[in-house]
Amino acid sequence: MSHFINVILPLPLENHFTYSVSQAEAEFLKPGMRVAVPFGKSKVYTGIVSAVHQEDPKIYEAKPIEQILDKKALVTGTQLKFWSWIASYYMCTEGEVLRAGLPSAFLLESETVVQLLKKAEIDEEKLTDDEFLLFEALQRQSSMKIKEIIQLLDKKTVLPIINSLVEKKVVVVNQEIYEQYKPKLERYVKLHSNYSEEAAMHQLLDDLSRAPKQREVIFTLFGISAKDKQPIKVSTLSEKSKASAGTIKSLIDKNVLEEYHLQTQRVQYEGGELAGRVKLNEYQQQALNEIEKSFETEDVCLLHGITSSGKTEIYVELIEKAISNGKQVLYLLPEIALTTQLISRLQNYFGEKVIVFHSKYSVNERVEVYQNVLGNSEKAQIIVGVRSSIFLPFQDLGLIVVDEEHESTFKQYDPAPRYNARDAAIVLGLMHKAKILLGSATPALESYFNADHSKYSLVNLNRRFGDVLLPEIEIVDIKEKHRKKRMKGHFSDRLIEEVRETLKNKEQVILFQNRRGFSPILECNTCGHSPQCPNCDVSLTFHSHNNQLRCHYCGYHMALQKKCMACGSPELSTKGFGTEKVETELKALFPKHNIGRMDLDTTRGKHGYEKIISAFEEGQIDILIGTQMLTKGLDFRNVRLVGIMNADSLLNFPDFRAHERSFQLMLQVAGRAGRTQKRGLVLIQTYNPHHQIVQQVSTNNYQEMYQEQLDERRQYKYPPFYRLVRITLKGRDYSRVNEGADWLATSLKNSFYENVLGPEFPPVARIRNEYYKNILLKIPQKQSISKTKIIVGKILQTFRAIGSYRSVKVVVNVDPY
Ligand code: ADP
Ligand code: ZN
Ligand code: ZN
Repeated sequence: MSHFINVILPLPLENHFTYSVSQAEAEFLKPGMRVAVPFGKSKVYTGIVSAVHQEDPKIYEAKPIEQILDKKALVTGTQLKFWSWIASYYMCTEGEVLRAGLPSAFLLESETVVQLLKKAEIDEEKLTDDEFLLFEALQRQSSMKIKEIIQLLDKKTVLPIINSLVEKKVVVVNQEIYEQYKPKLERYVKLHSNYSEEAAMHQLLDDLSRAPKQREVIFTLFGISAKDKQPIKVSTLSEKSKASAGTIKSLIDKNVLEEYHLQTQRVQYEGGELAGRVKLNEYQQQALNEIEKSFETEDVCLLHGITSSGKTEIYVELIEKAISNGKQVLYLLPEIALTTQLISRLQNYFGEKVIVFHSKYSVNERVEVYQNVLGNSEKAQIIVGVRSSIFLPFQDLGLIVVDEEHESTFKQYDPAPRYNARDAAIVLGLMHKAKILLGSATPALESYFNADHSKYSLVNLNRRFGDVLLPEIEIVDIKEKHRKKRMKGHFSDRLIEEVRETLKNKEQVILFQNRRGFSPILECNTCGHSPQCPNCDVSLTFHSHNNQLRCHYCGYHMALQKKCMACGSPELSTKGFGTEKVETELKALFPKHNIGRMDLDTTRGKHGYEKIISAFEEGQIDILIGTQMLTKGLDFRNVRLVGIMNADSLLNFPDFRAHERSFQLMLQVAGRAGRTQKRGLVLIQTYNPHHQIVQQVSTNNYQEMYQEQLDERRQYKYPPFYRLVRITLKGRDYSRVNEGADWLATSLKNSFYENVLGPEFPPVARIRNEYYKNILLKIPQKQSISKTKIIVGKILQTFRAIGSYRSVKVVVNVDPY
């Protein structure tokens, strides 16, 4: 009898591929193990076994595998099931899901680049002959492709050798794509152990009597450590004792103080005890009880808790219970970079049980996290991660928390699988029989709709922790202010007045300026020309700090031109305003204060976000200007005023979700104000003070926003009443894209009639020299989604078979917004 296996290859193939194996191999192999297999003319890939069977594929002759790469399954049965769900729901292939789901170090193939790990501590004794040969070769040349290694070692089966070297931490693979993530180190000081005896300390203070500044530092150090017994940062000591860095350095040089470094994220628990848990207040306790009650009968619960109501502490309680029952917990976050605050809070409570899955982790670190989760290790009880962490090999998931569930960053746009991690997490949770908690102050319309229609249970938390009031929200009519000449640049007199007042009281200010669609553009006053990107259909954006014009789509940039490139006139002006412009104006208005800016440009560096956030936390920045990034769950203690520079730029965005998103963004950014005792103030500058969304934000009326938006969605056939599938065609040949789009739209209309919209050019119709055209398919609630997808799939297959459209790429995006 012949034996076969089905293999999922990391390629966009419709089907699993069948290979032949020996009887012994068939007995050994289990679904989820890796095998090296030949594919195409001469390539080798790592694939995952999906089935072991005896059915000859018939259509082609099954080739034998090259090698078995695992002793135990690397991918669990639940993962295989989950991959197949993702592929069918999001209309992509399982190979694409596999690529997204496994660290690339697991997927060695002919083209994989292998490098020596920097600073590897290598015990040459422990290397086999082949491993040693490769190790030597890699010392001579910095990197090698697998196919070169095949030549070097003169054997076909080299993947196990490389896998073993990855495990021995000698080499890394595909490293150049990722930057190494290293937690930030901070400087701390303590009194040198020479002075732990009281007598020695008195002697020291006597000795320092002629150095009053240094003496002051020592006294301050005693003061702080007596109070809160925490490690003392150099920066804190310098601030509290008013001593210069030089003074502290000389104390270190004299061996009076001892300097040491800690990772920011770990400070609180390394070496120290775990922080005691807080006691929930009665509202939190009640919400927790309701959630737990609902979990007795329901699987998914939506926690609608206003900003600063203390949702995190409720999550902590639920996590604690889940792990004490021996279950794993997945805590999904929209973004890691902005949530170091939250991660240190979790690490405070749970110490080493928390593992973070970070998009900036290197390949090796990802492998480590993956192995820890797979092995259900002590170190991986609570997995905190961004959207891609839904693909980890959970063993026994008991709870999934989706924090800030309304965030659009849970959706992956490119490449496939184009999944929404919130929605997929629910399916994952159900597969594990886990409970799922969605939390937000401003739930996504769909989630609230599901709660409203009893698909999820709903728990409300309407009080801020400590009974802090929600900030007062005041609308400033800037049309009126312009008319009365009460504007200075983009600042109304009201905003200036309140900024001044806040700074006078030594409190902080946040100013929010949405960047989308509102970046400064250069325009000629004479002929109206504005410089365009040569590769994309957009105007270039002006960046004053380096005098550049840049394309935000493809990164094209050029130096600022002194004359109009069309007519030669020197009279150029900038239109629109971004964060940089706000910063320039603000510096002129408040020259004596420290102003910080947080946007894509200022947070590029490795610890860009953290630097700005901690500078603001430590009071080194008085006014922080920022984009959307500011809205993401940050917890600042001393912010009294939040200014929204221009609400209209959000409201006018051409997208059916613009109003919902504006409401969420404005309420979230408002939620950064007044999180301690004193009531905060939010000023919203707008040309449309009567706009219903602005009004709903100012009265914190989620219900009304929800009802109104829902009516519009119903009327215009949008989610949650209709599901959307967007089909994008793109290609370098303009007319091919056009004709292809017409063909495809016509075929779709034959089946779905008026529920097919387009084809239409998107607002930016050319990016990196490719033309784009969209078709939107709306699926009514009562129409079967799976049948619809089968029909769409067939139409696409026919389309791809048409020779003249071969150069046109088709991208299918399910739930695209
Ligand atoms: P949310 O996530 O709902 O916006 P947070 O969980 O960030 O709110 O809580 C807001 C603030 O209140 C945080 O600084 C948190 O430490 C504090 N807090 C919340 N609950 C408690 C509690 N039961 N005891 C002490 N402090 C709490
Ligand atoms: Zn001109
Ligand atoms: Zn461009």
